[in-house]
Order: sequence, then C-alpha cells, then structure tokens
Amino acid sequence: MNLNQPVTYIKGVSVTRAELLYSELGVKTCNDFLHLFPFRYIDKTQFYTINQLQQNSSEVQIVGKITGIKTVQQKRGSRLVATFADVTGTMELVWFKGAKWIKDSLKVNTPYVIYGKLNWFKGTANMAHPEMELVSEYKSKLQTAMQPVYPSTEKLSNKGISNKVMRTMMQNLLQQAFDSIEETFSTTFRNENKLLHKKESILNIHFPKDQELLAKAQYRLKFEELFYIQLQLLVKKLINKSRIKGYVFENVGEHFTNFYNNHLPFDLTNAQKRVLKEIRKDTGTGAQMNRLLQGDVGSGKTIVGLLVMLLAIDNGYQATIMAPTEILANQHYNGIKELLSNTDITVELLTGSSKTKKRREIHEGLENGTLNILIGTHAILEDKVQFKKLGLAIIDEQHRFGVAQRSKLWKKSEIEGVPPHVLVMTATPIPRTLAMSVYGDLDISVIDELPPGRKAVKTVHRYDSHRLGVFRFLKDEIEKGRQVYVVYPLIQESQAMDYKDLMDGYESIVREFPAPKYQISIVHGKMKPADKDYEMERFLNKETQIMVATTVIEVGVNVPNASVMVIESTERFGLSQLHQLRGRVGRGAEQSYCILLTGNKLSSDAKTRIKTMVETSDGFKIAEVDLKLRGPGNIMGTQQSGVLNLKIADVVKDSPILHNARQCAIRILNDDPSLSKEENASMLKRLTMLQRTSGIWSNIS
Ligand code: ADP
Ligand code: MG
Repeated sequence: MNLNQPVTYIKGVSVTRAELLYSELGVKTCNDFLHLFPFRYIDKTQFYTINQLQQNSSEVQIVGKITGIKTVQQKRGSRLVATFADVTGTMELVWFKGAKWIKDSLKVNTPYVIYGKLNWFKGTANMAHPEMELVSEYKSKLQTAMQPVYPSTEKLSNKGISNKVMRTMMQNLLQQAFDSIEETFSTTFRNENKLLHKKESILNIHFPKDQELLAKAQYRLKFEELFYIQLQLLVKKLINKSRIKGYVFENVGEHFTNFYNNHLPFDLTNAQKRVLKEIRKDTGTGAQMNRLLQGDVGSGKTIVGLLVMLLAIDNGYQATIMAPTEILANQHYNGIKELLSNTDITVELLTGSSKTKKRREIHEGLENGTLNILIGTHAILEDKVQFKKLGLAIIDEQHRFGVAQRSKLWKKSEIEGVPPHVLVMTATPIPRTLAMSVYGDLDISVIDELPPGRKAVKTVHRYDSHRLGVFRFLKDEIEKGRQVYVVYPLIQESQAMDYKDLMDGYESIVREFPAPKYQISIVHGKMKPADKDYEMERFLNKETQIMVATTVIEVGVNVPNASVMVIESTERFGLSQLHQLRGRVGRGAEQSYCILLTGNKLSSDAKTRIKTMVETSDGFKIAEVDLKLRGPGNIMGTQQSGVLNLKIADVVKDSPILHNARQCAIRILNDDPSLSKEENASMLKRLTMLQRTSGIWSNIS
C-alpha cells in the first residue's frame, strides 16, 4: 500500500470522515494518520489496591466489593453513593443519574472489577459513574491490553467519530499498511542505539502490548523525530559552509588596531575575547558566517559587535546594526558615535522617523560607499536601502525579529552572489536544548561572564499594600543621587485599560514625588518618537530622577546611574521580560535594587516567576524555568515554533533524547557527509523526502 494515499483508502473511512479528519486534525494521508499518536492510554493491564491510589492517579482499575449503598437527597433529584472496599481500605462510588435503576442492579458483597477516573474529596477517593463488571464475568473474557486515546475535537465527537471509531480506523489501517511501513534506520544503527524497529514502534504506539513496549516505541519515535530535525539542520549548515561563499576579512587593519589599543574604554572580559576569536575565525574561512551571540543582559555584546564592524571596514566593507526599537537604535547610535569620535569612520542612524532629506543622504552614502556604518530599526529592511558593499549585518535582540527578516538582510548587497556575514545578538538566553533545535543551522557563541565589578541586583517581592514603604525607599535612593525606573505592563500597546493603569500610576507618583524637588519622565509606546527621545535624554542627563515607563524600555536601554527598578503588576509580566527589565539596573558601580510589586492574589505560575526572579539572576536558569512554564512556542514566537512542529517529542522533557540524537547525527555526518555510504542509504532517502516536504527546510533562512 502507498502510504501517501488519502485516508479514504482506509477501510471504514468515508469521504465525509476524511474531510473531518483533515479539517479537525490536519490528517490527510494514510501516513499522516499513522503518525497521529495517542496522547494517553487506558491501562487495563494493571490493578490497584485502594491504599495504592494516589492523588494524581487519574484512571484506575480496582477489585473489591460493595459493602453498603445509600441514597442522598439533593436539591435536584438524588445521588447514589456506594461504599466500595478491598482488604486495604474503602472508597466511594457515586452516581448522579439513573440512581434508582443502578441501585437495583448492584450486588452487595460480590467481587467487582471497577474502572474509572478518581476524584478526591477531603482525602477520600471517589469514582463517579464507574465502569463495573462482576469478577466472574471479567474472567471469562479475553482481556484487552492498553487502549489508545486519540486527540479529538468537539466537532469530531458530534459527528460520531468517537475514540472507539478512531481506534477501529487505526486498526484497519494497521492491517492494510503494516507491511508498507518503512524503516528509516539501518539495522546496525538501530542495534547500536537500541532502537525498536519502525514497524514495531508504530504498532506499539497505537496498540501497546505492555508498558515496556510502549516506552520503547515512544523512545524510538521521539528519537527518530529529533534525529531527522538535527540531521536536516546539520546538513543545512554543511551546505552553507561549503556552498555559500562569504567575504574574507583577512586584514586586521588600522581601524581595528587603533580602536583596540587607544579607544577601548576597558579591558575585554575573557568571554568577550573568546567570542571575538570565534568570529574572526568564521570571517576568515571564505564561507558566510551565520552566528548567534548569546549573552546575558549587560554582558557587553555591543562592543564585540562594534569590533567586528571595524574589522569589516578594515577590509573595505560596510556594516550595519539593526535594533528592535527606536530607542535602542538611538542608544546604539549615540554610544557608537561617541566611541568612534576620534576616528574618521562615518556612522548614520536610520529609523522610521528619519527625515526625507536625511534619508536621501543616507541612501547616497550607502550606495557610493562613503557611509561605513548604518545603525537603525526595521527601516533598514526597506527596499530602497541598498549598500555598495555590505560585509556584515548585526541583528541585536534577535527575539524581536523573525527568521524571514534575517534572510532579508542577505539581499542588501550581494556582490557576485555573496551575502554579508550575519551576527545575531540576543540577550534572551535561549536554553541550550532549544537553541540546538531551533538554531541548529547557526553557530553559537556565548558570553558567559559579566564585566568585573558588577554587583548582583538585590531583588525583592512586595505587595501593593506595602507601597508606602517602597516610596520611602525610593526617596532615600534619590537622596543619594540615584535614579529610579517605575515600569507598568502594557500587554497590548493599544489597550485603553493598560494606558489608564499607566496614567493613574503616573499621577499617583507625581503626587507622591512633588515638583520642583522631584522631576519625572514618562515614556510609552503611544508617544511620538521625538518626544520619547526627549524624555529619555532628560533621564540620561539626570534632569529627571524618576522614569515612569512601559516595556518600551525593556530592551537594551543603558543608564548606568539608574539603580532602582520598580515593576508594577509584576504578575502580568513574563519571566524573560522581567529579567530584561531588571537588566536595566546594576550597570553602574552602585548597589542596585529590583522591587517586584504585586497584588495579593497570585496564580501558582506567577508565584513561580516571582520566586525565580528573587532567587536567581542567571539568565539561563530563568530561561529554563520560562520554557517550562510557557512551552517553547511562546518563547520563540510563532514563527520559530512553527519550524519545529513536533508530533511526539518535547524539546524540554526529552532534552536527553535530543542530545543523543544530535550526537548521533554529528557522528554520522562526520563519517559520511554526503550520506553516500551503503549503510546510510535509508537515512539519505528519508532526508531527501524531508527536504522536499518539510517546513524546516524552507523556513530556516
Ligand atoms: P548587552 O550585552 O546587554 O548588550 P552592553 O553591550 O550594552 O550589554 O554593555 C553593558 C555595559 O557594560 C555597557 O555600559 C558597556 O560599556 C559595559 N561593558 C561592556 N564590556 C565591558 C568590559 N569588558 N568591562 C567593563 N565594562 C564593559
Ligand atoms: Mg544590548
């Protein structure tokens, strides 16, 4: 049987059912259906005793006897409650419907097998509407093994496609198609890695003989899924390296050397030096660099980026740096301009609010090559912006940009089809597991060391009711000459309610911190860029002591004298945002503080987030917790999570399997980069198929 045929080839699947399977579950072909995996199993191979029942054991099977029955009157109708006992204890069985009829059919003091979902009430287990069978009958029947439960939707069950129907269709398919299921690994590879055969795995994932075979089947299928993702990414990387030519930055020239020796305001940390070496190696090979630079907030990524830009200029190329917000682009511009003030390197800023005349100048400078460095926002991506010789594109704070934008930069100036080197800098430390699976085609550098002399930011949680104490503390700090941020959540910049919160908050702070003693700035997304800049400028110049803001200041803003970060409604922020916000302070020599204000009612997730913030400042640990709370999709943004589209594996829970799979893929490719050896034939076949059909290939730039 050809597994690419539509599901209508399965016995019992009509055209109507096929349409429903497609619209509700995305299942089109027989192969899709085989890979629609159960999300849980009804395990009737196990018996529990009552004292073994756990608060979490959801569906269980127990043998015991009914020792008493009573009817309890309720507001509407009555409820039937039976006491059920085995030698280890007692529990209750409950019926809300059909009480009278059921009561007559129940046999007291006769052994039953019961099955159902457990509920707990005051430490006692009960089961509502259990499936019941007399032990005598149960014994006379052939016992079915574990039963799969498939994903479903309301529409499917309304249209009569119950789980039982799904099971039957799957059974039919397996009978028709079992022999056509293709192994994608060689026997040697399977033996080496202790992997079940594909056919056995598919059979046992749907109809497991027992728990052990189920575990083996799950392992094999997860491994296979992750292995082929890794193989694709690694092959992609190999192709990039061998086919996509890159400019060679062979000279460490005047600009770099002069800056490094005379204008670098501090010594680089060892981590910064290491990363710089890695980048220099990349840009010397003749292949295009595609590198992700991870480094916690404040770890000093900008200076590394600047040094690489100087390297590009030394070799006759232009460089650009793209930031996610206007404020951040501005700041990069001001900072870099100042650092380069004693050089003849030209730097310009291009954002949405650049004036037409300025734009024209910039376009010209870029095209005739007199402009060396362009700093800007998304505006850089506009078609009109073309470089004479762009050698390096840096993207700051990657998480705000999609994958598509990364590839758009490639096309900004291709001389003889050679794209610029790309360096992506992110302050959201992506957990290694996730980085490997999503950015497997990028090389990764990590700055894992903060510049010397930084003091950890003291982080505390305070309830709104202690606000006055917090205000007193702020006054003390301002007295000492420090500056303070007060940040409000703006979940959606358009939401009127959020603005009301912000404005109310602003007014109460103005009341509490009266002029002329105190000066207050406010910055939010609805303001004109020029006004925002004006306010930022005032804060930066210490003309104002308090900056009331929304998360527009989240990314990158650098005001070393600001030492207190107050976050309002902390419970509404995500972890990575909180970490970013906290990173705005602790940039100077002074002890800094982060105060997390919340209401009294907190969800358990919010509690976890706050606890994590108070306990650690390690961005990687925070990212791991964030990933667990939110799942990878939300962290990466839909674009990247769509790339993965995993059917069975989970990058967080199955990270050991992912690690294994990646190592295996690396080993195979080291030994046989083109997969041309006979023993890798099945892998090559599978890979070729995936390259034709899979989203990974096309989505990754
Ligand atoms: P991020 O990695 O968050 O982008 P920045 O590049 O903005 O961090 O750097 C944060 C601050 O640390 C800046 O003020 C920068 O000048 C300073 N800095 C960077 N590297 C060093 C270093 N090696 N020693 C001392 N200060 C440094
Ligand atoms: Mg930065």
